[in-house]
Amino acid sequence: MNYDFIVIGAGISGITSAITLAQNGLRVALLEKAERTAPVLRGFSRRGVHFDTGFHYTGGLAKGEPLDIFLRYLGISDRVTTFPFNEDGFDLFRCENPGFEFRVPTGFENLRESLCQAFPAERAAIDSYLGQVRFTCATMPYLNLDAEIRNDSGLQRIFGATLRETLDALTGNEMLKSLLSMHCLLYGVPSNEVSFAQHAAIVGSYYDSVRGIRGGGLSLARAFDARLAELGVDVLCSREVAGIEVAPGGALSGLRLSDGQTLLCSAAISTVHPRILLDMAPAGSFRPAYRKRLGALEETVSAFLCFATSEDTIPALAGANRFLLPDAGCMRELGKRPIGSAALYLSGAYREGETEPRGFIGICPVLFSETAAWQSAAGRRSEGYRQYKEQALGLMQGQIERAYPDLAGKIRSIEASTPLTIRDFCSTPLGGLYGVKHMVGQYNPQPATRIPGLFLAGQAVVAPGLMGAVLSGLLACGTVLGHDQMRKELKACC
Ligand SMILES: Cc1cc2nc3c(=O)[nH]c(=O)nc-3n(C[C@H](O)[C@H](O)[C@H](O)COP(=O)(O)OP(=O)(O)OC[C@H]3O[C@@H](n4cnc5c(N)ncnc54)[C@H](O)[C@@H]3O)c2cc1C
Repeated sequence: MNYDFIVIGAGISGITSAITLAQNGLRVALLEKAERTAPVLRGFSRRGVHFDTGFHYTGGLAKGEPLDIFLRYLGISDRVTTFPFNEDGFDLFRCENPGFEFRVPTGFENLRESLCQAFPAERAAIDSYLGQVRFTCATMPYLNLDAEIRNDSGLQRIFGATLRETLDALTGNEMLKSLLSMHCLLYGVPSNEVSFAQHAAIVGSYYDSVRGIRGGGLSLARAFDARLAELGVDVLCSREVAGIEVAPGGALSGLRLSDGQTLLCSAAISTVHPRILLDMAPAGSFRPAYRKRLGALEETVSAFLCFATSEDTIPALAGANRFLLPDAGCMRELGKRPIGSAALYLSGAYREGETEPRGFIGICPVLFSETAAWQSAAGRRSEGYRQYKEQALGLMQGQIERAYPDLAGKIRSIEASTPLTIRDFCSTPLGGLYGVKHMVGQYNPQPATRIPGLFLAGQAVVAPGLMGAVLSGLLACGTVLGHDQMRKELKACC
């Protein structure tokens, strides 16, 4: 079998790419090293409670918004049921020192009003910030299907001002700056490193609307599977790509698997972490400077996670996440605070068929170095690692129960995962929660490469998240099929 395209990696971006190419009449195979497609999305269950791992909520999914259009284009919309998060407060921000709480409502106008009520002296800063977020989203190719695609359209995200610099220029109010930086937790880069443009492109869709998917990431993964089957894509799981084969002229000719088999194809889209791609590419196929650049890409923060179940329902966490910040400055130091006194994100976990949570997942950003001592398989079986995990979990649980009395006493079981779990589970060599950082001064890879027939997608290319990963797949396919054609097809779904 000689495929037109093979897609490497069956995460959101790989599945998006495979569906798009197959919808355009190409013969496609999708290769995934895990046993199932979309391993990051599927989550797991404990005591009947399902814990989502790679998807809790997203912006841009309300009717007519970009992600809704993309999922319709991919033939997924009718296979999933979405629901709105709490419109008066989809995220509850709490700073402990000094004490301050804010419920983040959906809708730019609602958000503006709530912010102005909480910070009456900062109207000008709030208007300017929200105006700049809106403007940035409107100029992003694909996020706005009419926006011009220019070669330099990504440069603002590399050379532009950081989020921190932009906020510093607008206001001296540290609490407001902290509040507007809270969503750094959704992409894992501190406010003094992420560009304002990157931040705006991500949070803008959350300010518009916020939705979840009934049954979480698992439902989405199942919907993707059904669509791939319908389109006749050859989905090959437990198949790890070990190398890229090139013909004498240098063009991609096939992929070598770790079991020694070679699959022939005319072209491929890789969605794996750029560092994994480097190991696959034949020596000399990438320029040394490109190789060096991919090899040096910094990863986002990693995380320590807890998964708690409760016998009782926790209605307050239904459609409303919590962001806990020990102080207003901690968004600048993402990952650098010790567990127990660092920022935290909490999101509800549900039993099948129920609409009120019976547990929650807690995410605390930490650096990979936290667990580097136990990197080897032997290290992870050591007493030291077990003690670290137990102690860190105790600190995290203590912090949660102190901050949220409504959760104290409700926890029936609690488990943890560490940056090493993230490294293995998310296939990010240094445990980055969201893979490679998008930050000022770092050139992330673009869809086209120097190897004819090899294209790139994935969260490293555009942004993390359902939106970022889907966008990266569409962008890669647009590079192959022509952006005008892609946008025409997408517009037909509006
Ligand atoms: C804890 C957590 C919570 C999150 N919460 C949200 C959320 O609420 N909302 C949201 O929008 N986003 C969320 N995200 C982010 C989102 O899940 C990711 O950005 C997205 O899944 C990335 O998709 P991807 O296709 O780029 O990468 P991946 O899903 O990593 O896909 C790459 C695939 O390639 C496979 N692979 C690797 N090497 C090889 C190889 N050699 N051969 C074959 N296959 C290979 C991997 O197994 C993987 O399946 C969350 C992520 C995490 C970790």
